Amino acid sequence: MLYKQLGNTGKRVSAIGFGAMRFKKEEYSKSLDICAELVVKACELGVNYVDTAPGYCDGMSEKIVGRAVAQMKEKPYLSTKCGLWNATDASGTRRIIESSLKNLQSEKITVYNMWSLKSLDDYRQMTRKGGNYDGILKAKEEGLIEHICCTAHADGETIRTIVGDGKVEVVTLGYNALNFAYRREGVKACREKGLGVVVMNPLGGGVIPRYADKFSFIKTRPDESVATAALRFLLGHEEISVTLPGISGVRELEECVAAADNVTPVTEERLAEMSKLLGAELNTLCTGCRYCDECPSGVPIPQLMEAYNSYLLSGEKKAIKERLGMHWSLSPKDAAACTACGQCEPLCTQKLPIIKRLGEIR
Ligand code: SF4
Ligand code: SF4
Repeated sequence: MLYKQLGNTGKRVSAIGFGAMRFKKEEYSKSLDICAELVVKACELGVNYVDTAPGYCDGMSEKIVGRAVAQMKEKPYLSTKCGLWNATDASGTRRIIESSLKNLQSEKITVYNMWSLKSLDDYRQMTRKGGNYDGILKAKEEGLIEHICCTAHADGETIRTIVGDGKVEVVTLGYNALNFAYRREGVKACREKGLGVVVMNPLGGGVIPRYADKFSFIKTRPDESVATAALRFLLGHEEISVTLPGISGVRELEECVAAADNVTPVTEERLAEMSKLLGAELNTLCTGCRYCDECPSGVPIPQLMEAYNSYLLSGEKKAIKERLGMHWSLSPKDAAACTACGQCEPLCTQKLPIIKRLGEIR
């Protein structure tokens, strides 16, 4: 396992962390212990950073991680979160922190995240006087939290502004071989300020392995899969401390851990070359993050945008209809309910022209 400094926190973390959001429902609905074993196994293989959240896996993720941690002599670093939908002020945030500590069976949380900042407005809302940040800061002063972090879904320049405010020591962001250009400025800003960078969504919501032939240029060795190459691409960034693949089984876990061997540094020249190879279309794929999935008219936006990916990647319009029908029993006509109210586009982590694409699909 490769280990890296988590910015200036003094923590040395495994380059592959455990993203605890993909436990299998059929397993945790039977017994949390089945999933907890996977976390224990990951730590035996050298993983020492586990990222969870109150809402992951129907609220079971923190409890699963807690069961795993309770069995371990050497505890991993723990990361969890509070979003504006969990609490809007300091006292509400305090209640969420206490609930997480109980679930995690721990006396402290290593990294606590202001969760899902999609814009500067979200950041200002959480850091206003009496807001979430004040609750987190107080918990830190009491020793319940070690480091304050944010998970950012905004563009690179917005992340630079947040980082410049000096309130966080670590930033968790979605960054991968598909969208790196969009958040590159944010990653650079973290490096300049000595902040740790944790990367989520390393495989672009599964888009990269699903369309492996289109992304074969990510590979630097003939014997690696595109998914492994996409992980190594991130591990090779000196600015990135931890990469968080969502892990749901032992085989996946072992593949991810194996990716952390013999990593080659990623240079600016390589990034420029990859930007060219990605081209404009691959750079604007939906990553299936579902942050847009709150349409007041009930439009199934993530599914329609994912089907649009099939069109972008195949060049064939019929691919949209096929994907919608085969995977979700939906039709292009489902795009017709859009009233162009504009609510979804600011929420999109890829800043996609959703309304225009829905019009094309329709
Ligand atoms: S713009 Fe269309 S798809 Fe987006 S939230 Fe509004 S109605 Fe829904
Ligand atoms: S349209 Fe944007 S926000 Fe919605 S799932 Fe795709 S990438 Fe995520």
